[in-house]
Amino acid sequence: MTFNLPKEVQIVEVGPRDGLQNLSICLSIEDRIDLINQLSETGLSCIEVGSFVSKNKVPQMANTADVYRQINRKANISYPALTPNLRGLEDGLAVNIQEIAIFGSASNTFCEKNMNCSRAESIQRFQSIINTAHRHKIRVRGYLSCIVTCPYEGFISPDETTELASILYDMGCYQISLGDTTGTGTPHHIATLLNRVYTKVSSKSLAVHFHNTYGQALANVLIALQQGITVIDSAIGGLGGCPYAPGSTGNVASEDLLFMLEGCGIRTGVNLNKLIQISQTLTEKIGCKNTSHVSLSRKHDQLI
Ligand code: MG
Repeated sequence: MTFNLPKEVQIVEVGPRDGLQNLSICLSIEDRIDLINQLSETGLSCIEVGSFVSKNKVPQMANTADVYRQINRKANISYPALTPNLRGLEDGLAVNIQEIAIFGSASNTFCEKNMNCSRAESIQRFQSIINTAHRHKIRVRGYLSCIVTCPYEGFISPDETTELASILYDMGCYQISLGDTTGTGTPHHIATLLNRVYTKVSSKSLAVHFHNTYGQALANVLIALQQGITVIDSAIGGLGGCPYAPGSTGNVASEDLLFMLEGCGIRTGVNLNKLIQISQTLTEKIGCKNTSHVSLSRKHDQLI
């Protein structure tokens, strides 16, 4: 049996941003700092800290600058944050940020609902953010949402996703994270899409970001790994969703992803038991459902 998988994979933990911003409650600054500090002890090499957005728009991400200032930053970990505009980037510069993320969409309607501008206008906005970031030697990661379907437009053609990924890459994003925001993609969709995107952007500059709404996330991760992807976004406890994609559920859970990778003999450097402990403590504290099968299956006393 041929089973081509990478030997090593990087997990990008998006829980402190993508997970927490979709909760109905706001975690305190202290609890956000504590969560990131705990995640920093698990062996993760990239942890998304938050989002420099208006607190009126996303109250869960208010005071991200304070969180950023107070976390114990480790030299071997990247701590990106989302900066949707130049103002957000300035806030990031003030706390000596080293990596930022911008958020684009393959769907024009989704872009208008999420960012209050057309897809073309969002691209213009990105260019000024990227240029400013590069002047300060800051790396820029690009999110591309709605790569399979859009909650408003339905199916998005692989050509459109490919074009947007190509534009983000050419503008200077070092990596494009392809997001199945609605979670409707199947391994067939993902394999077809990746092969199309590879005509413009190589697998070395891509990551995948799958939501588990239709239970396809891990299957999609597996097909992406087989297609050469080595960077996977996930969220502790399967937290997440999207306020602009009604009914969408969380990101693939970091624990479930790690369990599968370990079972396939793929190195990540991340400690599964530590992740499970953080996940169980966090979801109990905020009173939300832990959607990680692995964390639900492991009891506390099995982790020692
Ligand atoms: Mg997400």
